[in-house]
Amino acid sequence: MRFLKPIFILLFFCFLLFISVFPQVLRCSFVKYDDFINIEPNLYAATTSTIKQQDSLKKYIKIAKKRVEDFWGSQKGDATIIFCNDSEEYQKYCRTSEGAGCTIGTPVGSWIVLNTDGLNPDVIAHEMSHDELMTRLGWWKTRTKIPTWFDEGIALMLDYRFVEAQDSIQRFKAYRDELFFFSGKSLPLEQLKTEKQFFGQGELYTKLAYFTSASVVSRKIAYGGKQAIYQTILKVKQDNIFEF
Ligand SMILES: [Zn+2]
Repeated sequence: MRFLKPIFILLFFCFLLFISVFPQVLRCSFVKYDDFINIEPNLYAATTSTIKQQDSLKKYIKIAKKRVEDFWGSQKGDATIIFCNDSEEYQKYCRTSEGAGCTIGTPVGSWIVLNTDGLNPDVIAHEMSHDELMTRLGWWKTRTKIPTWFDEGIALMLDYRFVEAQDSIQRFKAYRDELFFFSGKSLPLEQLKTEKQFFGQGELYTKLAYFTSASVVSRKIAYGGKQAIYQTILKVKQDNIFEF
């Protein structure tokens, strides 16, 4: 019995450490107790959202799921989706006011948080792709073995905001043209390995990082098909080695 007290204290400190590292996890886990409507299983919308917004949300999720199935073969990820209707609410759940959506992936669950700009199939499919990769590889391998440019590059294959072309060669050419029109040259992939490198150097740099990632990934698909991407993921899963 005398061991119970130190074990309890240790567990309590582990819990505090976890919450301090992932405070948004606690918030997302308790979304049903906040100002949200549970529209469907794993789908919450702010109580201030209109019926029209909620209907659009359901419609766009269907389109996004179809894109995930087309790219990945099937959808294995089942992240809970949380639609916020104002930037303050979004910031509370995402820990950032940046972007139209974010994916919070942890060893204990995944959530996709959207703001009003995220109410479209592109943003939802983009975030679902992040969740899909993490579900297939697991949280630890995704965090430690997958470079951010690869994760973002794949997500842009399901997100048609910058380039609409569906044909793999046309898509590659369009991304390459966007990149060269925008900057003249791509960024070195070595400088886009972490989220900090990718997102932490200003809006212009991040845009260039997106175009670089999408060009590299779409080039691989144009030459080797989606199979080439699956092989890279399989190598990480089986041998813990990232090869592109
Ligand atoms: Zn992304």
